[in-house]
Amino acid sequence: MANNEDKFRKIIAHAKEYGFVFQSSEIYDGLSAVYDYGQYGVELKNNIKDYWWKSMVQYHENIVGVDAAIFMHPAVWKASGHVDAFSDPMIDNKDSKKRYRADVLVEDHIVKLEGKIQKEVTKAAKRFGDSFDEEQFSNTNPRVLSNKKKIEDIKQRLYSAMKDKRLGDVKTLIEDLGIVCPISGSRNWTDVRQFDLMFSTRIGSLSDEANEIYLRPETAQGIFVNYLNIQKTGRMKIPFGIAQMGKAFRNEIVARQFIFRMREFEQMEMQFFVRPGDEIKWFDYWKEERMKWHLGMGIPQEKYKFHEHENLAHYANAAFDIEFEFPIGFKELEGIHSRTDFDLKSHQEYSGKKIQYFDPEINDSYIPYVVETSIGLDRTFLAVLSNAYTEEKLEDGSERIVMKIPPFLAPIKAAVLPLVKKDGLPEKAMEIFDKLKYNYMCFYEEKDSIGKRYRRQDAIGTPYCFTIDHQTFEDNTVTIRERDSMKQDRIGIDRISEIISERLKSNK
Ligand code: ATP
Repeated sequence: MANNEDKFRKIIAHAKEYGFVFQSSEIYDGLSAVYDYGQYGVELKNNIKDYWWKSMVQYHENIVGVDAAIFMHPAVWKASGHVDAFSDPMIDNKDSKKRYRADVLVEDHIVKLEGKIQKEVTKAAKRFGDSFDEEQFSNTNPRVLSNKKKIEDIKQRLYSAMKDKRLGDVKTLIEDLGIVCPISGSRNWTDVRQFDLMFSTRIGSLSDEANEIYLRPETAQGIFVNYLNIQKTGRMKIPFGIAQMGKAFRNEIVARQFIFRMREFEQMEMQFFVRPGDEIKWFDYWKEERMKWHLGMGIPQEKYKFHEHENLAHYANAAFDIEFEFPIGFKELEGIHSRTDFDLKSHQEYSGKKIQYFDPEINDSYIPYVVETSIGLDRTFLAVLSNAYTEEKLEDGSERIVMKIPPFLAPIKAAVLPLVKKDGLPEKAMEIFDKLKYNYMCFYEEKDSIGKRYRRQDAIGTPYCFTIDHQTFEDNTVTIRERDSMKQDRIGIDRISEIISERLKSNK
């Protein structure tokens, strides 16, 4: 654990030092849980967006995009259920004055119990060697069984209390489990209260309550309220999807995990409209498709796992998360939800506009069912960053940090470097840069030794450096240096573009 925390700190420091992510308003000591993307961060982020948009919109003949406004009519959030229900239970520790999400405190306690079970299993596996039958052991060992039972009881109490909003019972549960504040170590808790997660502001010149509007807490509603417009103007036939990426805002209670949990963040969501009764088939389809998308970034499969929701939201009839092993543990990266007709039906009721689809194949009208894929752009960025961060000890005893970002996502595809800043080398290098820049994001630099310049490119994940030296004038060749192997070779200038293009097709 300590090691991973250490890795997380290093990644955060690296992201700042090399222009990926800065704290917002840093010169004013920052704004909590709000971040800015720097010169390389913005490129990486744009490349992830591009990868998502192409896979979802361009590669599907039946999915189109939309870019809805952040501000929406306040009735939207009534209809969606957010005004009444989008809140988290919070609790304060009176000694440390720290605030926590009450349900997360309980869930962390469950993770500890799961850790105890795992320990028993690992111990037994060692003891029994090859003959060990994990399933049989887990189903018979008294200590494992007792912890499993405890977990079941806790989940049962937590979820039913949360569902019925019995906040007093959530507090009793925290007390019964003897949960202490990780900072003060005390059990001196306040009552549990609901904390509204939506940000609100005022629109127009009057400041009465009628003008209060919200900053959207999810992009999905911008899709639902445009369903009719797009279905009609695009002549869309079910099944079809609408995709959107954009900012969302949540006044998170606990926001201490870098870009994992922000108050302003970006989502990439797709709502897929299907015939009622077909939703589970499409749910299974999108679950697999989305996992393939993640693996397409070349990140090892074992870094991902599916997590089935046990505590379904009132509108859902199936829900899975794709979790990623961040340095802070396995956590949600994307949600795939079967949302039934909850949203469209509710907008039909609140707006008074008929939202129906006439299905010529069955000669009947219905409100479509929806399967949603909802991924956090910033969390994907963090997944790519933490998977890429590599510390290496080199043969000569020195060390380097290299970001093994998949080349097609790398902020800079090629650095063009004159070996020295004289004898016409910078001019020659600029000539090459000027040819490449129309197709690839390139970087030009002439300061410092070539070794130092290579290291800086390693640190931002540039797959190739091309160095121009005196020999370039003799035979029209340059040195190509590859990021991961650090191998150097001489190639003709005319091959540079083709080599970069080949590499961008691979995710390694
Ligand atoms: P969590 O349980 O972690 O709060 P959630 O279940 O509320 O997340 P959803 O409402 O399903 O999240 O949102 C879809 C996706 O948006 C999440 O999978 C996540 O990647 C991203 N996301 C949600 N909240 C945040 C946040 N505060 N900061 C960054 N990304 C977020």
